[in-house]
Amino acid sequence: MSEKISLAKETKRILQENDIKLNKNLGQNYLIDDFKRKKIINYGNLTKEDTVLEIGPGIGTLTIELAKKAGKVIAIEQDTTIFNILKRRLEKENITNVELINGDAVKVDFPKFNKIVSNLPYQISSPISFKFLNYDFDLAILMYQKEFADRMNGKVGTKQYSRLSAMLYFKADVKFLTKVSPESFIPSPKVDSAVVELKPKEEKINEEDYKVYSKVVKALFQHRNKKARNALIDSRHIIGFKDKKELKSILNNAEDENPKIKELLLERTINLSPESIMELSILLKDHIN
Ligand code: SAH
Repeated sequence: MSEKISLAKETKRILQENDIKLNKNLGQNYLIDDFKRKKIINYGNLTKEDTVLEIGPGIGTLTIELAKKAGKVIAIEQDTTIFNILKRRLEKENITNVELINGDAVKVDFPKFNKIVSNLPYQISSPISFKFLNYDFDLAILMYQKEFADRMNGKVGTKQYSRLSAMLYFKADVKFLTKVSPESFIPSPKVDSAVVELKPKEEKINEEDYKVYSKVVKALFQHRNKKARNALIDSRHIIGFKDKKELKSILNNAEDENPKIKELLLERTINLSPESIMELSILLKDHIN
């Protein structure tokens, strides 16, 4: 391209030429803000040593810039029409270091990568983020709905503290980077967005412990304002108890043996730190299946 046209104009032109109506159900909100695009790419700190995974490349707004800086980009797009547009676009621009995959990113196996940079389809925020954490990587720069990003980073006792915050706590460090307003996309979503940095913890948590912790977290956060004891009893099926009495007696015994446990079980879910929930989980570990 000899003349530099704005990202907004370029995006609208490509969509028009291909007669594309963006599909809300697929989370198709395309970035048209040049400044934010630059920021996102810069956060990635890319070198030619890097292989970048991108989920939902759309028409290539981030992909093409990523390909200039990284050694390789792996981009997974579910919408076949959009996938074909991007494929042609890459061919036309002679970009050869992008591996394009047409599929559902929640389902396909990821090839090897060490960084992730994506403006995610928001409807898969949760499953895709947990899927990322099953892989080893250095750094992820991800755009989410702001409300989701806030919950990722929710601190104990606040409105944002949630199952998501507790689940991420032992797996990754989450850092808020920048807010992005609805006008930075077409079509404009109804909500603000945010770019977040996600870095897997260097020290890996014991998977057995984490499995039990996940169940306890799930049970507790179904009743975020209840006392932990009651929350666990009410959601006992999640931690593998059918019988109310059985769980009650286990909790009673634990309380008698350990005053700390008694204290924890009297706290409301939203006031239990991840460490405290882990303590409870380890206590219940032998009883949970
Ligand atoms: N990265 C582009 C597009 C973001 S919109 C930009 O910033 O402009 C999100 C994209 O993800 C859409 O192109 C949508 O078709 C795609 N998508 C939605 N669900 C997906 C899934 N499960 N797997 C892969 N891609 C998906």
